[in-house]
Amino acid sequence: MKIYLKKNKEKPLRNRHSWIFSGAIARIEGESGDGTIAQVCDSGGTLLGYGYYSGRTDIAVRMLSWGERPVDRDYLAGLVRLAVVRRRSDPFLQGTNAFRLIYSEGDLLPGLVVDSYNNHLVMQILTMGMERLRDTMVDIILEEMRPESVYERSDHAGRSAEGLGEVCRTVFGTTPEDVEIQEDGVRFLVDVRHGQKTGFFLDQRENRRLVRGLAQGRKVLNLFSYTGGFTLAALYGGAAETVSVDASRGALDMLEKNLAINGREGASGLIEANVFDYLRGGEIAGDFIILDPPAFARDRHAVPRACRGYKEINLQVMKKCPAGSLLLTCSCSRFITMELFQKVLFGAALDAGRHAFILRKSLHPTDHPVSLYHPEGEYLKSILLRVE
Ligand code: SAH
Repeated sequence: MKIYLKKNKEKPLRNRHSWIFSGAIARIEGESGDGTIAQVCDSGGTLLGYGYYSGRTDIAVRMLSWGERPVDRDYLAGLVRLAVVRRRSDPFLQGTNAFRLIYSEGDLLPGLVVDSYNNHLVMQILTMGMERLRDTMVDIILEEMRPESVYERSDHAGRSAEGLGEVCRTVFGTTPEDVEIQEDGVRFLVDVRHGQKTGFFLDQRENRRLVRGLAQGRKVLNLFSYTGGFTLAALYGGAAETVSVDASRGALDMLEKNLAINGREGASGLIEANVFDYLRGGEIAGDFIILDPPAFARDRHAVPRACRGYKEINLQVMKKCPAGSLLLTCSCSRFITMELFQKVLFGAALDAGRHAFILRKSLHPTDHPVSLYHPEGEYLKSILLRVE
């Protein structure tokens, strides 16, 4: 299969962008099957690289290689080896046995996510193109990683647009019901079969470290706590008190187990509630508040509504927190930029009548690399504020 680009639409690809939108394609030669690896050529027929095609989505091609190098097993194995080397040599990952091993376009393997939980791997396939490469990728991963087990959690909502259904299954070995990991000496149980994402928020590692470093003597209120990543970090950092709020009973049960395996049974107040209701309900219990909600904007159209949601929860916290409070506030919506998120926080501070200072802004941890050529890979934005 050969894809020719329109003359005025070649630039992004020459700039090594990973995606080709359907509107950039002049014509297709050969059979255009979904997931087929295609040669991508400029308008004059010069080969620019290889990518896999989808006729169902706006992103018509996701690039796998640039230049003349065809995509074969050797090439893909090379990408996996590089991803592994980058993690093994990464000083930020030395204190943990849980990290993202492959981050889709960030590791030049679009549509594939692999997380390693103490060498129990969880893989997620997001696109038809990667689905067609699945067996090869599994084979390579087994060879390069020698994992104890591999579990597939291909239940991402985006799969239906690719014509793929949900697939959750054991691929290799036996994955324990709860996998135990440790990060900076803190133990966590991860339910890779039923948990959010692949079971744990690996992407919040650097923020957990930040919280641990700042928690001494603070009353930490962890909103949208899930299984307590920030709660445990705060306790290890010497927090005077912690309260964790989440709407999911299952998440709070796991949080309790996580407290217990760290010898801290009952160390956190647990509140099963909708955070929006909780915040409207009166006083808030903390001078270090963590707000890490789920993605409020799942697509571009949802951005205005998502901004209202982010504003509401940040406004309520800013209205009620004592002077000198720290607020670590996050958005994991791909469609909310750092600039827009900061604007929302500005509006919240103004309406709350509080002065707030930016102590830190941050993006992804190193195991979720964002290619300079593919800024769309960026989703997590965090801002640490001091509210006066
Ligand atoms: N901060 C967590 C990850 C948060 S994931 C961590 O670092 O591990 C989002 C969590 O928000 C989920 O546990 C989900 O159950 C919870 N949630 C979603 N909507 C909610 C709401 N309106 N009120 C309370 N919890 C909510």
